Amino acid sequence: MPDNETAFRALLDHMAVTSDLSQTMAVLSWDENTYMPDGAAEARGRQMATLATVIHERLADPALAELVARLEDAGLPEDSVEAATVRQARRAVDHASKLPASLVEALSMHGARARSVWARARQESDFTSFAPELARMFELKREEAEVLGYQDHPYDALHDLHEPGSTAARVRDVFVPLRRELTTLVAEIRDAGSQIDDALLRQSFDEAAQERFALDTVTAFGYDLEHGRLDRTVHPFATSLSKYDVRITTRYQRHYLNTALFGTMHEAGHGLYEQGVADEYYRTPLEDTASLGVHESQSRLWENLVGRSRAFWEGAFPRLQRTFPEQLGTVALDPFYAAINRVQPSFIRVEADEVTYNLHIILRFELELALLDGSLSVADLPEAWNHGMQEMFGITPPDDAAGVLQDVHWSIGLIGYFPTYSLGNLISVQLFDAAVAAHPHIPADIRAGRFGTLLRWLRENVHRHGARYLPEELLERATGSGLDAGPYLRYLKAKYGELYGLS
Ligand code: ZN
Repeated sequence: MPDNETAFRALLDHMAVTSDLSQTMAVLSWDENTYMPDGAAEARGRQMATLATVIHERLADPALAELVARLEDAGLPEDSVEAATVRQARRAVDHASKLPASLVEALSMHGARARSVWARARQESDFTSFAPELARMFELKREEAEVLGYQDHPYDALHDLHEPGSTAARVRDVFVPLRRELTTLVAEIRDAGSQIDDALLRQSFDEAAQERFALDTVTAFGYDLEHGRLDRTVHPFATSLSKYDVRITTRYQRHYLNTALFGTMHEAGHGLYEQGVADEYYRTPLEDTASLGVHESQSRLWENLVGRSRAFWEGAFPRLQRTFPEQLGTVALDPFYAAINRVQPSFIRVEADEVTYNLHIILRFELELALLDGSLSVADLPEAWNHGMQEMFGITPPDDAAGVLQDVHWSIGLIGYFPTYSLGNLISVQLFDAAVAAHPHIPADIRAGRFGTLLRWLRENVHRHGARYLPEELLERATGSGLDAGPYLRYLKAKYGELYGLS
């Protein structure tokens, strides 16, 4: 029997090699989504499948499970880095060893098939053709939930994969008041009568100039190009190829400034998080992030709380005007600030503003919960979707393409994932408030184009910890309170009350 120290070192050695393999796979995936020629798709698929198999075998290795079990019984101090490392290793081991290979394969095969049926169904706005594929996917995911295990609701098992420690009940706790208050706020804005015109954002903007401005902005935030890069893609993302190489992508629309402007800030926020993980966690199970929700809190914080704030543009607008003198040279700050924050109940989630965005998520959460526990049938889904849209937004989609068929997530089995977007929004305000409470000069800094104090606070309280803490634990430590919709609602009401002249 090795002693605990030897066992822990063996665990680290095993996981370090696995980490190298996973990061190698991330390089292949980044390349696939950026510069890989179309003709390489099949060969790349094979390379990635081989790597995935090798990684899976390493994680399902009984010798690793034995090390983990032994260290769990070793009485490691609960708050120690070692205990957190073992906990993360346990998550990986369980996921790899609980799911039978047949289910893993069925999920991957069906995901590929359902995704392509979904793409065509969306194009033709034909839900009926997609319905059997979706029903099968929910069956498989129910099976997965059963194998993984849960206490209250099968949703918990699936949601926990993306938001460790969170449950459907926990999400419902915050979503119920959020739904009620946001629905009221949306109706108030709709009835306020003051319309915001965003035509000034819909002129012609040179793409290279957009890129220069976006890159200057995110490097000023602290995004490090020595350990990152910015490329173009159709569907923007951020990816960590190790904490020393965290890449972001964006897309440009010549006739709409917001896409690249806020999209790049968003992805840079994700990038800043992973660049900030502590060096000593490199190649360990802690070189990761707390959860998707915390990840999204970082992107939303830089995109919205910094990037869509008046303070930021008081400093940055002259620079944007110099970049686009013809289009914006004579525009005043106020109409620009209003335009980038325009609220418009709309059908498509990815185009939604800060106020309506979370209602899109709440709708999806309620529906996937009901589909999973069988209280809603797939056949009744479009009607339930449209009913929810009417109730929350006061609008009904003209067809299923603009409704229930708009997102890829469910087709590829991402169920229990949507809430993390909203959790991220809520957490972003909780963290920002805590940072400003600790350093009241942060808003003045942002106005002056200085972001160092804010970034240092985030590094210290969030980034450097990697996957050491569960998301709610991390939030408690950083802000003194658990997940809470209150701060987010107060933020929205203050900002949009002023913009729309609500009393
Ligand atoms: Zn994001």
